Amino acid sequence: MSDPIPLRGPRCPQCRKPAMPPYLPFCSARCRTVDLGNWLGERYSIPAAVPEEAEEDEAPGEDGDDETPGSA
Ligand SMILES: [Zn+2]
Repeated sequence: MSDPIPLRGPRCPQCRKPAMPPYLPFCSARCRTVDLGNWLGERYSIPAAVPEEAEEDEAPGEDGDDETPGSA
């Protein structure tokens, strides 16, 4: 007897689903991309989508006009 579905085949490391041939050892392109991203992230220590630029601390709704035109 031969089972059409390999119960002991490779599993997707991402979602534990049976891996599919086109995306081995993953089950889908999505899982493959996710895993690749995680792998690269760990390897290069890249923060998960954390924009370092454009970080301006501007308190909204607070007009700090310290420079008063005090002409005596
Ligand atoms: Zn998967």
